[in-house]
Amino acid sequence: MNPTAFFFLALAIIVVETALRSRKKRSTSWTETIRNITLGLNERLHALLLTAFSAKLYALWQPFAFEAPPSWVQVLLAILGVDAVWYIYHRSSHRISLLWAAHLTHHMPKEYTMSVAVAASPIGVVVRAFLYGHLALYGIAPEIIFFAQVSNALYGYILHTELWNYPRWMNYVLVTPAFHRIHHSCSPSHIDKNYGNVFTFWDRLFGSYCLDDAPLVYGITKTPKQRDYLHDQLFYLAQLVRNFYRYPFGRALRLVFAGPEAQDADPPHLYSLDLRPSAGEVLLGIGLFILCYHSIFQWEAGQRSFWAVLVGAHLGIALCSGLLSTFARRVGVLRA
Ligand SMILES: [Zn+2]
Repeated sequence: MNPTAFFFLALAIIVVETALRSRKKRSTSWTETIRNITLGLNERLHALLLTAFSAKLYALWQPFAFEAPPSWVQVLLAILGVDAVWYIYHRSSHRISLLWAAHLTHHMPKEYTMSVAVAASPIGVVVRAFLYGHLALYGIAPEIIFFAQVSNALYGYILHTELWNYPRWMNYVLVTPAFHRIHHSCSPSHIDKNYGNVFTFWDRLFGSYCLDDAPLVYGITKTPKQRDYLHDQLFYLAQLVRNFYRYPFGRALRLVFAGPEAQDADPPHLYSLDLRPSAGEVLLGIGLFILCYHSIFQWEAGQRSFWAVLVGAHLGIALCSGLLSTFARRVGVLRA
């Protein structure tokens, strides 16, 4: 799909869901939705830049690959393999603080909406590229691995809503919105449960399956006061670095790989900015981002300056988030 059409479709889905939620008397936070969208734009930008890197990783495995099985076997292996790798990646992302630093942006929202699906970190793209690459070893063609990856991601996208439910029996085989809502809840019985993205049998097999009726509490247990797409991505990494100043080296190093519950309860507060982007800023920022994102394809053909469009895309994200205008007010360029 044309990337511009993809962005418009994703935004249209978020707008339609917000309208449907309001008809059901459920409010949707503007600041939280915009924060999720800016995280998504940032992640997609870096995912695009990393496409060539992923292809090279797949190619590294190919000389050692088994003989390619028939195409339908490759598709089946890729769908199961990508979902199994996702389970391992996802579980590790909750149990290893270094990976949690990247994944937590997806768990910080206090509402459960379609925009949460895109609130991701580009670091996850890099980690998954390494993990998915080994599937080429089983003789699966890179384009089939890529197809399975995209299908897996799209399936995960439609899980992030409170608007619909699948029949309860489906949870025995497939991940449903109700099953995944539990994963996003920080109620005591829900923490570290339901890591699967398409099939639930990985959770059954490895003891992380949960389908109880405890109240859902979205978000994480230790949320910093400052919330924006940059702070969300940086504060936990800063916490891991801060450990090296607070504790002996060995303990701080262990905390990098320990579970999030081992960290101090006071997450770092890196700066204080009250971001309230206007609808105009959001539209202008998204417009600038899409224009630059689209230009990256042309740059690959040597028609645009790479660094100019990259800076432009980042300025678009900063404008959309309200960071640019807030910063301009702080330094006196704009009136408070
Ligand atoms: Zn998760």
